[in-house]
Amino acid sequence: MEKIDIKSLSFTELEEKLKELSLPKFRAKQIYSWLRKGVESFDEMSNLPKSLREILYNIFDIRGVKIKKRLESRVDNTVKYLYELYDGECIESVVMQYHHGYTVCISTQVGCRMGCSFCASGIDGLIRNLSASEMLAQVEMAGKDNGVRISNVVLMGMGEPLDNFENVVRFLQLVSDEEGVNIGLRHISVSTSGLVPKIYDLMETGYPVTLSISLHAPTNEIRNKIMKVNHAYPVETLLKACSEYTKNTRRRISFEYALISGVNDTDECADILAKKLKGMLCHLNLIPANPVKENSFSRPNDNKVQRFCELMKSKGINTTVRRTLGGDIDASCGQLRRKSKEEGS
Ligand code: SAH
Ligand code: SF4
Repeated sequence: MEKIDIKSLSFTELEEKLKELSLPKFRAKQIYSWLRKGVESFDEMSNLPKSLREILYNIFDIRGVKIKKRLESRVDNTVKYLYELYDGECIESVVMQYHHGYTVCISTQVGCRMGCSFCASGIDGLIRNLSASEMLAQVEMAGKDNGVRISNVVLMGMGEPLDNFENVVRFLQLVSDEEGVNIGLRHISVSTSGLVPKIYDLMETGYPVTLSISLHAPTNEIRNKIMKVNHAYPVETLLKACSEYTKNTRRRISFEYALISGVNDTDECADILAKKLKGMLCHLNLIPANPVKENSFSRPNDNKVQRFCELMKSKGINTTVRRTLGGDIDASCGQLRRKSKEEGS
């Protein structure tokens, strides 16, 4: 029988499980508290009798992440991890240092089924969803391995967070638990390629997370070519959901726009984009596209990126060009995992 993933359980669920096993209720508090402290084995739960630790070991497992590769950038302090999961699958995480503290970018799935044409994460499709505990373990390991306090989390690694909605919501509860890593929901960004019904579901949770939308194109004609999801949820449907989201939550949306040479970087694109975003409580992040070996896309030169940025600003859209971190260590998600698979390591 497969063991139960104990770290993904809420306190109430853990209490219930112990009850089912006829174990004393008061143990739930002790066990839960150890789990939130980030222990990696039941043996670390030193105030539990050995016999109980053995019972727990036979029924539950503590799903963590094992460092398979650690790459540290020479140009900035970015650290990229390739982690191995309990079943041998691999995921990526990146720790970045900003002036306001340390941010970790975590994966939410092994692979991704959205199939965006510029992205390395989706090339092999979806392998499986990550559990809440596997998402949490990435945050804990980022702090532990670097000896720092993580202040922000972005769900922008491998996978589509809203395609793993239940586990992501569970993760948000665990990561913001005061007994654990205790990261406030306002310091968490959830990025999506645009699964519209799930954007409404996220809004309904009332969680004050920041929503990031990977827009990447101002028209259906262009977006259809690079993002399959646009066929199901076209630009106007997506922007309507965004508009509702900001009205309901009063939180600013962050639009991500990867500039791809000759695809979405023209003055006309800037013009249409500005008209569509005008009046919305939002911020636009321009990202010069990261070249991926498996496709033929390239990024525009710096002048062109600056021009696009200035055009957007002149049209009243709050815009920045995202600093590229860890350019020397394949920091763009999905690339390290693919490389490792190809090398068979
Ligand atoms: N699936 C979610 C979150 C993970 S992808 C989403 O798509 O939003 C994180 C971000 O990286 C997204 O904005 C995605 O569009 C972007 N991205 C993926 N491949 C990229 C590339 N080659 N260059 C630049 N940005 C890329
Ligand atoms: Fe998936 Fe996001 Fe990559 Fe698209 S950009 S394939 S949604 S990870």
